[in-house]
Amino acid sequence: MHRIKSLLVSSAILFPVFHAVAQEAKPQDTEVWEPVPAIVTLGTAASAPSDAIVLFDGRNLDSWVSDKGGAAPWTIKDGAMTVAKGKGGIKTKETFEDFQLHIEFRTPEVVKGEGQGRGNSGIFLQEFYELQVLDNYNNKTYSNGQVGSIYKQAIPLANPSRKPGEWQTYDVIWTAPRFNEDGSLKSPARVTALLNNVLVQNNFELLGKTLYIGKPFYEKHGAKSIALQDHGDLVSFRNIWVRKL
Ligand code: MG
Repeated sequence: MHRIKSLLVSSAILFPVFHAVAQEAKPQDTEVWEPVPAIVTLGTAASAPSDAIVLFDGRNLDSWVSDKGGAAPWTIKDGAMTVAKGKGGIKTKETFEDFQLHIEFRTPEVVKGEGQGRGNSGIFLQEFYELQVLDNYNNKTYSNGQVGSIYKQAIPLANPSRKPGEWQTYDVIWTAPRFNEDGSLKSPARVTALLNNVLVQNNFELLGKTLYIGKPFYEKHGAKSIALQDHGDLVSFRNIWVRKL
């Protein structure tokens, strides 16, 4: 009895103390100081941030190969690389899983064709998943195939296209799909993309590989290249860099 009484007394004394401590919570209590994010020196409009892997700086195609094997056959002029019509796409020598990608493209100033036949190329994220490149300035096509789309899967949230012949920017955050040992899907690929600094894909979960015909599905793979499409139009690219995440 005496012990219970003393416990009651002590908790009666302690309770206001705890209460007072709780009241004395400071803003500093919820500040987290470690780890410190690494300082990155920003690039200019035409160069990469300090921790990026530069994939194309306007001088050579050393980081690229033909998707048919061998040297990348595209042409370089005035700091830009351009599709060599009919010679096939190109892909990076290095392979990637999760990454941030910056890439600039320009569709031909002289407009030819319409719909999918006008300034068509594509950025194949991990080789299988196409972020569409198309001249959609006053050019109608199916919504899930226009610039900013994940081709035939995700309609872009906006169409912030610049005029044909003007340089446009893509900034992409890619999360690779993950697979189980048996090949089944563990988690789908996800993409966020900005076209000319306007959000066009917001953390979209992909349904599988890009297909021209039929419904997309996944097949197990690991790190893959970033590839650029030859769709027969003279689309140019410049200032390409990637940051592995
Ligand atoms: Mg395309």
